[in-house]
Amino acid sequence: MSRRPMMAGNWKMNNTYGEAVVLAQEISNRYEPRWSDRMDVVVCPPYIDLKPVSTVLEFDKSHIAVGAQNVYWEASGAYTGEISVPMLKEVGCTYCIVGHSERRGLFGETNEDVNRKVKALIGGGISPIICVGESLAVREEGTTDEFVCAQVKAAFAGLADHQAAKCVVAYEPIWAIGTGRTATPEQAEAVCAAIRATVAEMFGDQVAENMRVLYGGSMNPGNVEGLMAQPNIDGGLIGGAALKADSFEQLVKACF
Ligand code: PEP
Repeated sequence: MSRRPMMAGNWKMNNTYGEAVVLAQEISNRYEPRWSDRMDVVVCPPYIDLKPVSTVLEFDKSHIAVGAQNVYWEASGAYTGEISVPMLKEVGCTYCIVGHSERRGLFGETNEDVNRKVKALIGGGISPIICVGESLAVREEGTTDEFVCAQVKAAFAGLADHQAAKCVVAYEPIWAIGTGRTATPEQAEAVCAAIRATVAEMFGDQVAENMRVLYGGSMNPGNVEGLMAQPNIDGGLIGGAALKADSFEQLVKACF
């Protein structure tokens, strides 16, 4: 596979400041230079943990990137409770998750919001990890590809080719997130291939060929191999299994 694999850990709303430092240190202790030679490893802690986590990694010279889990599209102003792209940039973020199904489902994030966030991130030099994925109802109805590809089109709307090229897409079927129920490699591959075809329609074959498409949804050391063997799956966005350094390390090593 010519694309550089990526393993990104989404810590969600887990780990206090002190706990985040411990987990970052445990992951950093396992870091080997071949990780960053061959792939991108990313950890996405809660906002308040971004600075301490990036400090630990920088101090150890572990080339593990730090990402946020969300962002607001305005750069500054009267937006109580929000965090902007320049704020993320200054604490060392190079990636940011957008459109996670928990943000869409629990906090009302729309396709339009996702698009605004993607544009703000790209404008500020941070790579968006754009999450898309269908509910169980949509899957059972047989409209998964249409639903997911519409989310992809909305997230990328109005971008130029060189801007789209900065993005990563994560296919995360909602029914597989935190449930222990993983998509089969074949199910995940089919949707990831449809996502890549949509990117090709919008931005051409080269952008599509180079774009990382991750799978997320109960990925763990026991199922990672089958998923990573698929030609259109370039890595994982990991929730539960990213909260323990041992399992995260195993997932990283499955990319070699
Ligand atoms: C996620 O939240 O992005 C995720 C994939 O979670 P889990 O791995 O726990 O299913």
